[in-house]
Amino acid sequence: MAPRCATWRSVVLALIAAGAVVACERGNGPVGLGERDALTQQIVNMGFRPDMIVEHENYFVVEGDILIQKADLLRRMGGAGRTTGEPGVPPIQPQYVTNIQVSTSKISYIYVNIDATVNSAWATATRSAISEWNAISSTAIRFVEMAPADLVVSTGGEILYDPIAQSSFPLAGGAPGPTITIDASHAEWGSTSQKKFVMVHEFGHNTGFRHTNLVSLGEGLLPWGANLISGTPPTDAVSVMNGNTGGTLWSGFSYYDQVAARSLYPAPPAPYVASVSTSPSPARQYLPFTVTVNGSGFDTVDPQVLYTRQGCDPRWGSCTGVYSAPQGIFAVKTPTQLVFNMAFSITGTYDIQVRSGPKGGPSQPPRSFTVLSYY
Ligand SMILES: [Zn+2]
Repeated sequence: MAPRCATWRSVVLALIAAGAVVACERGNGPVGLGERDALTQQIVNMGFRPDMIVEHENYFVVEGDILIQKADLLRRMGGAGRTTGEPGVPPIQPQYVTNIQVSTSKISYIYVNIDATVNSAWATATRSAISEWNAISSTAIRFVEMAPADLVVSTGGEILYDPIAQSSFPLAGGAPGPTITIDASHAEWGSTSQKKFVMVHEFGHNTGFRHTNLVSLGEGLLPWGANLISGTPPTDAVSVMNGNTGGTLWSGFSYYDQVAARSLYPAPPAPYVASVSTSPSPARQYLPFTVTVNGSGFDTVDPQVLYTRQGCDPRWGSCTGVYSAPQGIFAVKTPTQLVFNMAFSITGTYDIQVRSGPKGGPSQPPRSFTVLSYY
C-alpha cells in the first residue's frame, strides 16, 4: 500500500478578489441549509464524488486536498456553471495549465512576502525555490521578495486537510495565485531538499501549472481548466509538477518542466537599438553626460540599459552595469527612446544594450559610445 504522503496535490480555488465581491453582496454570514445543498451539488456537477466532499465553514475540501471556497461556488452558480462533459466544454486531456495565466506585465515581477509565521527552515526553502525558478533561462518567470506582495507565503493549519502545503492558481485579470500555505503540522517536516521541492512545486501552481500527472491522479478539468502546454509530452515522471510527490528530494526541474515554462511564459523579446549618442559628444571622464538611446520595443514594464566596457578585466573591478526604470533614472522613457545621465571615471568604449526586464534577452548587436580623458 502506498504511503499516505503528499496529498498536497492541492490547488486552491481561491479567487480572492471575486470572493470578496461576493462577500460584499451576500454578507459574510453562514450559508443557509438549502444553499449549502446547492453548493454541494455544484461540486458534484464539477465531477467530484459526493462522498469525498468535506464541508468547512467557508470552504469545501474535496478528494483530500482540493480546496473550494464557498464564495467562489456562489459566484459560479450565478454564472454559467458549466462543467466538463457538457456540450461545448472540452473533455479532460493530459494537460498542464489553467485557463487563466499570469499576465505578461506581472510574470517577471511576482512580488513575494514570506510572512512571520514561516519558520527559518521553510523560509530558506522558499528562497531556494525562488532562485530555482528565476534561474530557468529564456523564460519570463521571476519571483522577487518585495512588498507589497502579490503572493504571501505563510504557515497555517486551519484551512488544510492534510497536505504539506497548498497554493492558489492565477486570478482573473492575470495576477498570480496569491497564497502558499504551509501546513503548520509540517513546520518541522522534511529535509532542506524536500522542503525546497515542495516550494518549487507550489510556486508552479501560483503561475498556473497544474499537475503533470493530473490524469493518473484522477483530477478533473475543474473550473480552472487544464490546457496542454505546447511541446510537452502527456506524462513526465520526473516533472516537479507531478502531484503526490511530497517527500521527493529536489534534483532540479525536468527537461520538460523547463520547456513548459518557456512555452507558456517566453522571455520578453529583445528590443532593437538603432543608435546611441552622448551629449556632449564625445563623453568626458568624470563629467556627467547624457545618453540617448533610439530604437524600438522599449515599451515594456522595465526596459533596462546594460553597459559593458570593452577590454575591461573583471579582476580589477566591475566591467558591466545595469540601468533600469525602477531606479528612476530615465529622463525620457518612450517606446522608441531612452534618455539618462551617466558619468564614468574610466576612459574607453562602452557597449550599450537594452533588454525588457531582468530576464529579457539583450538587444543585438551592441551599440557603443566612447569616454575620453578629461585632461
Ligand atoms: Zn500540487
